[in-house]
Amino acid sequence: MERTLWATAGLVVLLVPVLLGLSRADHSSPLSELSVGMGVFATSLLACAVVLPSRLRSLTRSFGIDGVLGMHRFAGLLIAALVLAHIVVVVAVNPADLGLLDVVHAPNRARAATGATVALGALIGLTLLRRRLRHRYEVWRWVHVGLGGSVLVLTALHIWWLNHLIRDRAMRVGFAILVLGVLGVLAYRWLWRPTFGARGKYVVREIRPETATVSTLVLEPRTNPRRPDRDTSGFAPGQFAWLRLSPSIRAQEHPFTIASSAHLNTRREFTIRHSGDFTRDLRRLRPGDPVWLDGPHGAFSVDLQHSTGLVMIAGGVGITPMISMLRTLAHRRDRRPHRLVTVARTVDDLLFRPELNELTKRLDLTIVELLRQPPKDWTGASGAIDEAVLTALLPGEFQRNQLGYYLCGPPAMVTDVVTMLNKLDIPLPQIHTEKFDFV
Ligand SMILES: Cc1cc2nc3c(=O)[nH]c(=O)nc-3n(C[C@H](O)[C@H](O)[C@H](O)COP(=O)(O)OP(=O)(O)OC[C@H]3O[C@@H](n4cnc5c(N)ncnc54)[C@H](O)[C@@H]3O)c2cc1C
Repeated sequence: MERTLWATAGLVVLLVPVLLGLSRADHSSPLSELSVGMGVFATSLLACAVVLPSRLRSLTRSFGIDGVLGMHRFAGLLIAALVLAHIVVVVAVNPADLGLLDVVHAPNRARAATGATVALGALIGLTLLRRRLRHRYEVWRWVHVGLGGSVLVLTALHIWWLNHLIRDRAMRVGFAILVLGVLGVLAYRWLWRPTFGARGKYVVREIRPETATVSTLVLEPRTNPRRPDRDTSGFAPGQFAWLRLSPSIRAQEHPFTIASSAHLNTRREFTIRHSGDFTRDLRRLRPGDPVWLDGPHGAFSVDLQHSTGLVMIAGGVGITPMISMLRTLAHRRDRRPHRLVTVARTVDDLLFRPELNELTKRLDLTIVELLRQPPKDWTGASGAIDEAVLTALLPGEFQRNQLGYYLCGPPAMVTDVVTMLNKLDIPLPQIHTEKFDFV
């Protein structure tokens, strides 16, 4: 239902302004209408691209974080293509308009358009090259937000100074609604949630080492005596939250999966690999230290889709959503058959081994451990996950198509396994992924 409502809202935002614009046109110059139509459609898409990553929980719950960010990226590329086509058509209609690109002599409306186009180009270029340029994520993120804000403001100024689009009353009202909607979402994302989001306050209770590089952070809500119910909101097993060490809007925020059972009252556990600066700082936390959570988010959960059993494939610390789902299913005495493939480098990197062994006694759970660097005496599976491993694990064709497939880990592994499942004719809606990577 939520998904359908969001899809409908998206279609309304994308189509209504274009249709309104076309219905108001005098149809004397089809090329001019095409250029205006493309410009208006790009503006509506821009509004969607801004709203998509704004942490609206019902949106991330409907489409999953990979889905939301996939749409955000697609919208960005489509906007760039539309803007370029818009410029080409404007110049084709009147070649003298090429002079509008001269920012020194061009009128304000054209300067704003050129500025928005340059900012959009820089934003897309820096995103595509982030890894190659080795930009720190936080630096890239603030540059991305700054450039996105510039595109938004300059586009609004371009439309304002163009004037002819907002001269018509219906179009003026349409754009005003669009602008107010976007401003409302931005205010919620950047002001209301960080300032008044009471449910985010937690306190560290314990830090439990799991391996040499991984530990579990156990958090409890810092109850607000005036609004205790707000601290105890539930989550679906497999969902994640953004975690920060200060309430400041400038503080770093990092996404981590809630690894505990959804039935563990208000306590939240996060199992974290200490690989970079922020995750290393987390290791230095002490019991009693405050932290802030924004969540739960995401649709990577057994509770949000129906299936006759789960096939979970986890690479490294990508096992965190799986352990949350398995712990929750054990609490519920789930009777369906489940299968788990855990991929790790060495035996020491296999997480939750004793607990998973325990869970096989409480659940109908088959576990395959796959090591990329096995010791000499290792009798289990080794190497990369391949079709042979999957085929041996899965039941016959009819049954395997009813199962829910949950893949989480390094992006390359997730992409490879999706390709293998496609070859095995597993229906796409049965496959759910979480890549632990945003860019
Ligand atoms: C939905 C989701 C769930 C996750 N769950 C877990 C989990 O349960 N356990 C776990 O150990 N890891 C999890 N991760 C990965 C975790 O967020 C990153 O490892 C962590 O943010 C790295 O931060 P760092 O500064 O320590 O490392 P860095 O070395 O600075 O960053 C390593 C990489 O992590 C990503 N990253 C860095 N900062 C951020 C940020 N603020 N927001 C998003 N991505 C960032 C970037 O791609 C970067 O290249 C999850 C990621 C996502 C997207």
